[in-house]
Amino acid sequence: MKCSICGSDNVKFFERSERYNFDVYMCFDCRVGFRYPMPSKEEVSNFYSKEYYTGNSYYSYLDERRVKGSSFVWRERIDKLIKIYEGFNKIKPSNIIDIGCSFGGLLLEASKFGLKPYGIEISSYSSYYARRRGIEVFEGHLDDVDLPKGFFDIATMVEVIEHLDNPLKSVKKVFESLREGGVFLVQTANILGLQNRFYGGRYHYYLPGHLHYFSNVGLRKLLKSVGFREVLEFYPVEFGLLPKLIKVYLNASGLDRYFKLVKTGMYHVLGKVKVGDLTLMSSMVVVGIK
Ligand SMILES: [Zn+2]
Repeated sequence: MKCSICGSDNVKFFERSERYNFDVYMCFDCRVGFRYPMPSKEEVSNFYSKEYYTGNSYYSYLDERRVKGSSFVWRERIDKLIKIYEGFNKIKPSNIIDIGCSFGGLLLEASKFGLKPYGIEISSYSSYYARRRGIEVFEGHLDDVDLPKGFFDIATMVEVIEHLDNPLKSVKKVFESLREGGVFLVQTANILGLQNRFYGGRYHYYLPGHLHYFSNVGLRKLLKSVGFREVLEFYPVEFGLLPKLIKVYLNASGLDRYFKLVKTGMYHVLGKVKVGDLTLMSSMVVVGIK
């Protein structure tokens, strides 16, 4: 068996998801895990029903419209991305594309910063909603939609790359759609973080819709291999703790609120612990500069 990302045949069985009974293999050269065998296209498209987006299916996207205070987190994210873009380009970015934009929450905030918002969304249910918010949506799978080349200043993929069946092909397409100097943010879990290794086959990220499992090493290699000239890494995320605390504060009450605030604070601090490429926790954000 060959790795679909780097072509190496140094691919071995890694772990079996105890909850969902599927096998994860890993390429030990590029340090990316993947489901094997891969589920069929039909099986994959069935994951993204209306029930998935409204949080009513068995394993689900948490409906962003029901979460309070997400805009604090999104604003911090956009602000940081604009600063990164300006740092490399000395001019302001003019547009952004969010891949897997769902209901368009992040993009709505981006438009308040003066960025023209574009999204790619596989679900017609959430595409419809995002369009009503003034977002130009390319509806379909990233691999199938017709994207302009050399056009976007900022691209984001937040907890989406693990859902892709051919991340190399998809990330190449994003690279081509970016302008020279464009910024591409990817957020996913680091499978080789100690937090995840502790859980083994009970790892929480082993979900039926997750087809690839990245490590920081693997994601960095992937971005470099498609041509990104610089790769920045942030642990646990690229922005500070405060917006996360505000979000927690707004969504919990009583004792639960204080417990969650402490937990979020601790996670944020522990998320910074890193020796070489080995991290304690699983959160990471990787940013490529074209
Ligand atoms: Zn590989």
